[in-house]
Amino acid sequence: GFDASGHLRLAVQKKGRLADDTFDLLKRCGLTLSQSKNRLYARVQELPIDILLVRDDDIPALVASGASDLGIVGGNVFEEERAGGRLQDRVPMVQKLGFSRCRLCIALPKEKNYSGPRDLDGMRIATSYPALTDKWLADNGVEGAESVVMNGAHEIAPRLGVADAVCDIVSTGGTLDANGLAVAETILNSEALLIGGKLSEEKAKIAEALKLRIEGVQRSRDAKYVMMNAPRSAIEKISAVLPSADNPTILELAGRPDMVAVHTVCREEVVWEVLEELKRLGASAILVLDIDKMLA
Ligand code: ATP
Ligand code: MG
Repeated sequence: GFDASGHLRLAVQKKGRLADDTFDLLKRCGLTLSQSKNRLYARVQELPIDILLVRDDDIPALVASGASDLGIVGGNVFEEERAGGRLQDRVPMVQKLGFSRCRLCIALPKEKNYSGPRDLDGMRIATSYPALTDKWLADNGVEGAESVVMNGAHEIAPRLGVADAVCDIVSTGGTLDANGLAVAETILNSEALLIGGKLSEEKAKIAEALKLRIEGVQRSRDAKYVMMNAPRSAIEKISAVLPSADNPTILELAGRPDMVAVHTVCREEVVWEVLEELKRLGASAILVLDIDKMLA
């Protein structure tokens, strides 16, 4: 049954954009779920963790009430609950996860010129983030504006005449553009968060095991194993170009005393510009490999 005592409860979105990224994370953590995603909960096979499958909007309150020990939720949803004063101090642990990135933006019909917050004076702003919207309006000295709560289809609110502007999450901006809207202000940069309430000693240990796996995944996400052949004389310059690299391992190339093989782990993204610079410094046979797992 669900009430296995001692199991840590983790609330995640059942279905949706955050769910896709969350299940991907759990998989990369080496965790397998024993039940189908359509059930109300699933059990992790490798650790004593039960996964609650819920609407993302319910996750902060489930953690704040103690019904779930941990949750994975978008910063947009979490910050809205916090700004609304509904969490008090009952969610002490908040850790950034680096995926499901989006922005919460105020957008206006394209034909309206926007030069600053005062242009929003007196406007009705359609949003499902009223607490964050009202807080931003107050912090930015906008007068007489009010948020109008809508739970979907914000983009058409201005055309329907029920609002003058919208405040909604934007990832590519395509939806706004298709509805004749343009971003005026970004009021929050959001990413998925791991949140947690007060835990017993026993559950804190399980949470630590989960966090350790998550950190391993995060560390290996951008990290690459980079190898190349290079002139011995260029080692110093090459090391300086590699982003967040460990001290490289230098191996002699057989029969070429002037040349070495350079091996290292880069902890930040290795972009094309870096590779071009390496070539310019005399490197050849450059290989950039994905890292599956990494422990510090
Ligand atoms: P629910 O039925 O659980 O209430 P929803 O319709 O509120 O789902 P989704 O559209 O699935 O929510 O988005 C969930 C969360 O995913 C958003 O609140 C945001 O934090 C994040 N998100 C938004 N845009 C993207 C994106 N393009 N890619 C990944 N995650 C995103
Ligand atoms: Mg939702």
